[in-house]
Amino acid sequence: MIELDRGAGLEAIAAEVRVCTRCRLHETRTMAVPGEGSPDTEVVFVGEGPGYNEDRQGRPFVGRAGALLGKFLTTLGWQREDVFITNIVKCRPPDNRDPEPDEIAACAPYLRRQLEILDPAVIVTLGRHSLGRFMPGERISQAHGTVRPVDPATGAANALAFALYHPAAALRTPDIERTSYQDVAQIPAALLAARARREAAPVAPSSPVPPVPPVPDPAVAATPDPAFLATSEALAPDDQLTLF
Ligand code: URA
Ligand code: SF4
Repeated sequence: MIELDRGAGLEAIAAEVRVCTRCRLHETRTMAVPGEGSPDTEVVFVGEGPGYNEDRQGRPFVGRAGALLGKFLTTLGWQREDVFITNIVKCRPPDNRDPEPDEIAACAPYLRRQLEILDPAVIVTLGRHSLGRFMPGERISQAHGTVRPVDPATGAANALAFALYHPAAALRTPDIERTSYQDVAQIPAALLAARARREAAPVAPSSPVPPVPPVPDPAVAATPDPAFLATSEALAPDDQLTLF
């Protein structure tokens, strides 16, 4: 799909989201938050749902958690505009409560259609609810910093999920913040693995899922793994991995 078509397709979904009344969250929202970013990116970040600032501005991750996400991207030489950023639910749950299962289910088709258009190589999950969609059954404490093939039923035909703690959790807990920076440093390796996998199996939707490429282990953050170091060297600092 060329960029113009993708942009138009994403804008059509955003227009539906802005007037959506499919679940009770529409009653309390100020603005729906469809998501934003490059229609042609290889990397999509999926959070949980809009917070106070997002609800007022109609844009994802514009509050404190968003500022930290921006810092994470900066460490990779990427900008918000280079990726696509969205959420599991597009309207703010009142008082930032967790989204309910029926709200998540009602909103799911929007994210699925966004992913069908974007066809990302990597989906970076932010927090538990996003993890639950893209790495069902995993625990964030185990899964952070690792990749897993994504079920094409999510809309992403041939992608790897990469799990991060939610940036809001990193803001609350310095240990999680440190760990998150170490995890983020592994995203370029995940992207290279995802690209290799897509080249090996360009049309994935109906074919069996190929084996997972070497998985960055969360433990390598503490004890550097030669493969990880090689990747960081290859990418540092004026030779950063360019996103399509
Ligand atoms: N937290 C989220 O999960 N999403 C946002 O858009 C902002 C904060
Ligand atoms: Fe519609 Fe999703 Fe908003 Fe619910 S959260 S009203 S399903 S856009």
